[in-house]
Amino acid sequence: MTAAWGGGTVTSRATCVLAPNPGAMTLEGTNTWVLTEPGSERCVVVDPGPLDEQHLQRVLEVVGLSGARVALTLLTHGHADHAESAARFGELTGAPVRALGSGHDALGDGDRLMVDGLDLAVVATPGHTSDSLSFLLAAENVLLTGDTVLGRGTAVVAWPDGELAAYLRSLERIEAMTGSGEVTQILPGHGPAVADAAGVVRFYLEHRADRLEQVRAAVARRGADVDGVLELVYADVPAELWPVARLSLQAQLDYLHTHPSGLGR
Ligand SMILES: [Zn+2]
Repeated sequence: MTAAWGGGTVTSRATCVLAPNPGAMTLEGTNTWVLTEPGSERCVVVDPGPLDEQHLQRVLEVVGLSGARVALTLLTHGHADHAESAARFGELTGAPVRALGSGHDALGDGDRLMVDGLDLAVVATPGHTSDSLSFLLAAENVLLTGDTVLGRGTAVVAWPDGELAAYLRSLERIEAMTGSGEVTQILPGHGPAVADAAGVVRFYLEHRADRLEQVRAAVARRGADVDGVLELVYADVPAELWPVARLSLQAQLDYLHTHPSGLGR
């Protein structure tokens, strides 16, 4: 039994401030990551989280404790539990907010972000959503994954914006980064930090392949009736998660439409 995740300092550059929004989808809550190069006076905040003034004040307190100020805010994607407070946090800090797409100072794959010696690379990891980004902290072989890889359980492909083919490509890209040793640890958007990045990504790919095969078999038995397939394939998932399981299922049916023989891994 591992201890409950409550955020806190994880590496010499990364501290998590846990937002007070626990739930079936958000696990213990959203992880707001504060990244600071040791000795630096400027830091980067990833995912300020839901619009909760007390949470934002706690983030600023953590930043202030190290004598730093926020120079840049990044979003892993636009879902409200990560990004709802972005505009307000921008007001509080005066720092720019960057993300992929609409209304932001847009980031793209391969962009390098340098803040007082802190060196981050943008890794586009679409699939959970089309705008999902991960951030590579190469100095620590750490990848911040948002909702692409979580600290516990598995992630959802938020169909129709999310797309399974893209998600699988993103997981394979992260798997390659773990294989080369470029990434050894994952700092997720929800749940505890993952010390075995390679193991968790392998588990994610296996889980996706297993689910897809279950869906393919269920469709062969029952036809592509979404609710019938949902009952067969997601019987192990609590009922409160069925609305999101339905989205993942839709994403898989979509995928099987164009890849009728499944994954072939
Ligand atoms: Zn999300």
